[in-house]
Amino acid sequence: MFEKILIANRGEIALRVIRACREMGIKSVAVHSTADSDAMHVRMADESICIGPAPSSESYLNKAAIISACEITGAQAVHPGYGFLSENASFAQALEDHGITFIGPSAEHIRIMGDKITAKETAKALGIPVVPGSDGGVADFEAAMKAAEGIGFPVIIKATAGGGGRGMKVAKSAEELEMAFRTARSEAKNAFGNDEVYIEKYLQKPRHIEIQVFGDGKGNAVHLGERDCSLQRRHQKVFEEAPGPAITPKMRAEIGTICANAVAKINYIGAGTVEFLYEDGNFYFIEMNTRLQVEHPVTEYIFGVDLVREQIRVASGMEMSFGQDDLEINGHAIEVRINAEKLPNFAPCPGKVRTFHAPGGLGVRMDSALYGGYSIPPHYDSLIGKLIVHGRDRPEAMARLKRALGELIIDGIDSSVPLFHMLLAEPEIQNGDYNIHWLEKWLAAKFGN
Ligand code: ADP
Repeated sequence: MFEKILIANRGEIALRVIRACREMGIKSVAVHSTADSDAMHVRMADESICIGPAPSSESYLNKAAIISACEITGAQAVHPGYGFLSENASFAQALEDHGITFIGPSAEHIRIMGDKITAKETAKALGIPVVPGSDGGVADFEAAMKAAEGIGFPVIIKATAGGGGRGMKVAKSAEELEMAFRTARSEAKNAFGNDEVYIEKYLQKPRHIEIQVFGDGKGNAVHLGERDCSLQRRHQKVFEEAPGPAITPKMRAEIGTICANAVAKINYIGAGTVEFLYEDGNFYFIEMNTRLQVEHPVTEYIFGVDLVREQIRVASGMEMSFGQDDLEINGHAIEVRINAEKLPNFAPCPGKVRTFHAPGGLGVRMDSALYGGYSIPPHYDSLIGKLIVHGRDRPEAMARLKRALGELIIDGIDSSVPLFHMLLAEPEIQNGDYNIHWLEKWLAAKFGN
């Protein structure tokens, strides 16, 4: 087992990893930018080291500085958290070249899943159902039209190198295709420096359902059911729950087994998430994330496992501490993402937090790096905390969420907390009856945005 782990991240996820390290008797090293000297992860880790100025390109994304920090502190492994370098194949490779363990999958698996076309081809070859679409990229408008006619309208044009919802355009008919194709291509070129696009059937009312998988790198893998993350704004998740309100045990076992077998076959190591759109009883693969997800706590709650601990175990060469037969769902969990954003426009509003009071009690978990007197720097993501609740069933979890939100105090800045108070009052949210377009439509009706 490692003696010391460096966490190449900040905020709540850095705390999450430090906590797992501490329970395992492993020393932790925090890295930070000059803007984060006062951050909670720096205070909580056993050691800390400054790796550069405020912009993440010069600090949290600075591979050379992070590798130097490992060498200076003697850290044997790096946990990347999510975001930043967590899905950067060349970072994983560079660590390996320096004899440092990357706590995550191999550089090759990161690379395959990072390119949407190779990811989709790989998924298909491994028996995972995919969205009907063009086989690979479409070179020109004629090829695009041919593919779209084969699939049937409406279609969605997506950038091969895409991410964060950019470079995606919907065409409802043949007339709309030319414009959509050209716009998607130029957006892709500007955003990713690569104008290759491909075409998929556009699903009209799907849910976003993702399957948590976990492999030991030696041909064994399990699934830990699904999360429903359909409540999204601009393709960003805001509310996640497990199990999914629309998923039956039979469906879970089927799609879960397909995903676990697929990752076992490629000797995948560590945590991964296979993302699907789900409509009318069918699952359609959209992408695989080769890292820990923001919303992993809902899965931890219903299965009673620590996914970070497991990641560290398998990275050090140990066995996983559970097999598929040990994994049984207990109750229901919900997470809400709390951002430093002001409604109704969701404008980021960093600033000084006067008072912070986290809710507590049975079935309540608050993952946050806030503290009273802390100044949220403007340079990073606006996520300031995640409130996760667990109940014996969905109604109990919903009531607990409402109660916990009422106890939460974040004074001095605006946050997205009022949004959740409003959402919890909506019958469709109470009933779990929503799809990926629900939130945007509701926001448009409520605030006209
Ligand atoms: P990104 O990597 O940019 O986030 P994804 O492929 O994960 O792109 O898709 C992001 C979101 O876009 C999905 O969660 C869904 O809301 C929407 N989307 C993607 N593909 C389709 C599709 N074929 N039909 C309908 N919506 C889609």
